[in-house]
Amino acid sequence: MAKTKSNGHPTVPASPRPPVSESSHPRVSPSPALPISDCRILLWDIDGTLMRSTRAGSFKDYTIPMLEEVFGTAGRLPEMKVSGMTDLQIVGEALKHKGFTHEHIRERVHELRESYMKAMRKFTGNGDEVFEVLPGVRTALQAVHDHPRYQSALVTGNIEPAAWLKMEIAGLSEFFTLPGAFGDESHDRRDLPALAAERIRRHLQMDLAPEQFIVIGDTPNDIECAKHFGARSLAVDTGRFYEIEDLVACEPDALLPDLTDIDLLMQTLGNL
Ligand SMILES: [Mg+2]
Repeated sequence: MAKTKSNGHPTVPASPRPPVSESSHPRVSPSPALPISDCRILLWDIDGTLMRSTRAGSFKDYTIPMLEEVFGTAGRLPEMKVSGMTDLQIVGEALKHKGFTHEHIRERVHELRESYMKAMRKFTGNGDEVFEVLPGVRTALQAVHDHPRYQSALVTGNIEPAAWLKMEIAGLSEFFTLPGAFGDESHDRRDLPALAAERIRRHLQMDLAPEQFIVIGDTPNDIECAKHFGARSLAVDTGRFYEIEDLVACEPDALLPDLTDIDLLMQTLGNL
């Protein structure tokens, strides 16, 4: 069920952080004027953070038939709350009581991915507007893109082709210039920031510390995965399924009601 929103959410200011320690490894900054230790990599969640479906629960419209096709059953999926979970985790949780293990599911991940994309393309190609970009998102992505301190990547529970299809539909693909991590790579979201960070370090040839990564997301799982890796977290209260109190309880490094106030966003990120 969609949660009720109120205006004037408090914001939690980011606490000042000690500078990231310098490494003895030779490193190259993408911006010559900027020391590597000042660079920050933004790891963006998609659903509830950048965009959402125009109708709550529509995710299940295409994932239930997809699971039935691949595994012969959608298990518990119809009654599950899936926000913040990776797609592999959703499948695992849905089918657990039917005797399917994570190993069974991983063995069929290619088939799953194919069937998922077939169902999703049918869902997104029906002529209706099925996703909406959340308020302020495009401007926010442009602002960080234009700032030398930041580069952006996706760290999302979506399987990779679904993530890129959503970015394409939303017209946001151009902002994600770095490799990310996706929901077909683990049933545990906590694994994803480290996977993305390793790819990004290799891609940029930069020895970035975990605290130079900032996970931006709308659920407790986003905050947890940041903590697990040692990254900072910026929670945004734009998801449908969690209340602001749920996010506060996870102690994110910063919390914003949404991404509409660019000055506040840049000031908040500047403190992380
Ligand atoms: Mg989300």
